[in-house]
Amino acid sequence: MAIRPICITGDPVLHNPAQDVAEIDDAIRAIVRDMYETMDKAPGVGLAAPQIGLGLNIFVYDYEYQGEQLRGVAINPRLEIGEISPDLPDEETEVEGCLSVPGERFPLKRAEWAKLTALDLDGNSYSLEVTGWMARIFQHEFDHLQGVLYVDRLIEPYASEVHEVIQELGWGTPGLAWLPGQDYLEP
Ligand code: ZN
Repeated sequence: MAIRPICITGDPVLHNPAQDVAEIDDAIRAIVRDMYETMDKAPGVGLAAPQIGLGLNIFVYDYEYQGEQLRGVAINPRLEIGEISPDLPDEETEVEGCLSVPGERFPLKRAEWAKLTALDLDGNSYSLEVTGWMARIFQHEFDHLQGVLYVDRLIEPYASEVHEVIQELGWGTPGLAWLPGQDYLEP
């Protein structure tokens, strides 16, 4: 088990589509264990494989939903989503963050409903229909597997704001990462 460094925006692995897992073997099980450990340490409510530098269609999640802790892994997931409201996002209740853009948060509208279909660690297919923040988490993590970060979806003025932050912090170039529990790693 190991906590893995989390890639920061600018690394190509975060901006390209990931590949399906061909076989759930010991190597994949080890990756998923590390993903849970890294998500817990960060801490985060979700983590996608590209965020630890692996272009694989896997994400993990851990969030309390309707009084129950929904903790699981989605391998080769598909996601259906409801309509995204054209209203402006609420600056208090619809604010999203990402471990690959650490420390920043911006408002973003998401679909209120989502249905995840994926394989679990035993290779069994399962489906989860969720709403609200859980649906947001699934959309955020599923986006990661398409090479899309939430900051790519921001409207103005937030899009410009995050662009400035990324420039100021010297992000947006390959090879930057941070290790949960420690400081930023040198490229
Ligand atoms: Zn993220």
